[in-house]
Amino acid sequence: MPVCWRSGGPLQRAARAMEALCSVPVHVMRDIALLNCLAEAAKDFAFHRGIAMRTPENPNESERVLFVPFTLFPSVVPTVLFEQAMEVQRDFNLLIDRVSQDHAFLQETLKSTVDSDEFSANVFRIFQRLLDENITKPVVLGLNRSDYMFDLHADGASSSLKQIETNTFAASFGGLSCSTPDLHRHVLRLLGKPGEGVEVPSNSPAEELGRGIAVAWELYGEPKAAVMFLVETDCRNIFDQRCVEYALWKRGIKVLRKTFGDVTKQASLLPDRTLHVNGTEIAVVYYRSGYTPNNYSGPKDWEARELLDRSRAITCPDIATHLAGTKKVQQVLAQPGVVERFVTDPAAVARIRSTFAGLYSLDMNEEGDRTVALAMADPHRFVLKPEREGGGNNIFGDDITELLGRIGHSPERKAYILMDKVRPLAVRNVLVRSGFPLAPLDCVSELGMFGIYVRQGGAMVLNDCGGHLLRTKSLEHADGGVAAGVAVLDNPRLV
Ligand code: ADP
Ligand code: MG
Ligand code: MG
Repeated sequence: MPVCWRSGGPLQRAARAMEALCSVPVHVMRDIALLNCLAEAAKDFAFHRGIAMRTPENPNESERVLFVPFTLFPSVVPTVLFEQAMEVQRDFNLLIDRVSQDHAFLQETLKSTVDSDEFSANVFRIFQRLLDENITKPVVLGLNRSDYMFDLHADGASSSLKQIETNTFAASFGGLSCSTPDLHRHVLRLLGKPGEGVEVPSNSPAEELGRGIAVAWELYGEPKAAVMFLVETDCRNIFDQRCVEYALWKRGIKVLRKTFGDVTKQASLLPDRTLHVNGTEIAVVYYRSGYTPNNYSGPKDWEARELLDRSRAITCPDIATHLAGTKKVQQVLAQPGVVERFVTDPAAVARIRSTFAGLYSLDMNEEGDRTVALAMADPHRFVLKPEREGGGNNIFGDDITELLGRIGHSPERKAYILMDKVRPLAVRNVLVRSGFPLAPLDCVSELGMFGIYVRQGGAMVLNDCGGHLLRTKSLEHADGGVAAGVAVLDNPRLV
């Protein structure tokens, strides 16, 4: 659904642009001394509320920590698009869950990717082994995050919600984004009158993710069993994860944190595949690591992953839901009639489809050849995406021409998909990052909606939207998440 940013023609828009697309008046943005003063107060607030991460030098100790970069002010987001993203989340939860249950679809869709990408092949091998052994989980827990940008229409005055991707594995920042609304409210309070009337919506994804895990834990049915967070060996973003962990402890649920290396040494399966780690039965494995090749130091880590996936424990995500979150599946879902295979309600199909940007296959056929030609003719209209997660992997502009020029006719291209580049309207904000001078910048935001669901057998026990995440980056960066050091934490200012 398109939405008007504001009334008036292009000239009026230009005149008012600074003011309308910023949460505070122009004079505040121009006052660098004031911005510095607010930023110092905001950093203190960030530490006071644990908006922090460990240093790159010492990713495994909490003695010296950094604040997680954030915007000084909330960024303008159209209310209609925010509500649309909230509304469609339950539809996306259902869609992902149904895709995960269609094993033939996953096999067919991912054939080309698995052929050309070793990481996807490793995940797929575990999926296939579970199918061969007839192992399915009686309870499925989905914790995902669907990310969007606001695509500006040719009229320059209205935008629509376009999905960038869905993350079904280790979607992060649900913890820290519980505290960022208070940070922005405090900064606006410090400003006094200029900040008046700016609403920052409350947000509690950590509670919601915890609720999802707790529902799954309860259905597992063993009160003494624990939840295990499967974590990286270098864990800079630990405070974000701790928020979800504490939500579980508060509910009386024990939480362990283990790496793949720990699993190799401490985990075992009983004959009925009950998972024990150091003598504690595990009801739910919540993966916060395992989504990228760097998370696996070698074959032993893949064996540990397989052991967990084969166990009776509820794994979040289960192996099929991991595959349902791939970029290749996203591209195939955008083809005519594919969403319709999984979702029968026409209104839900329309809600889902309205968020799709153009997505194109690079398989070794005529369609793939057409995609190569399309991209080579106008590379700046597109983003070329490999089957990777975590930010910083996509290819833009002239690099697309270079890469496709090199591999356009070889099977290597099957490891990628092509997507229309979303062109959002820039908003003005100030990024607070350690070591960078403060200055108002043209920025773009990416809105994430957390999805939580639990299915027991054929019945959806829980299906909800679990809060949001807003990340903002300077316009000059094409790619990038918070972990990749490009985007910073933000909040919507709904207008
Ligand atoms: P990842 O799984 O690595 O996060 P994404 O698909 O989210 O991969 O892409 C990473 C980043 O690249 C996004 O956060 C966004 O900044 C940018 N990006 C991705 N797709 C598009 C697109 N279609 N249009 C504009 N920017 C995009
Ligand atoms: Mg991702
Ligand atoms: Mg992303």
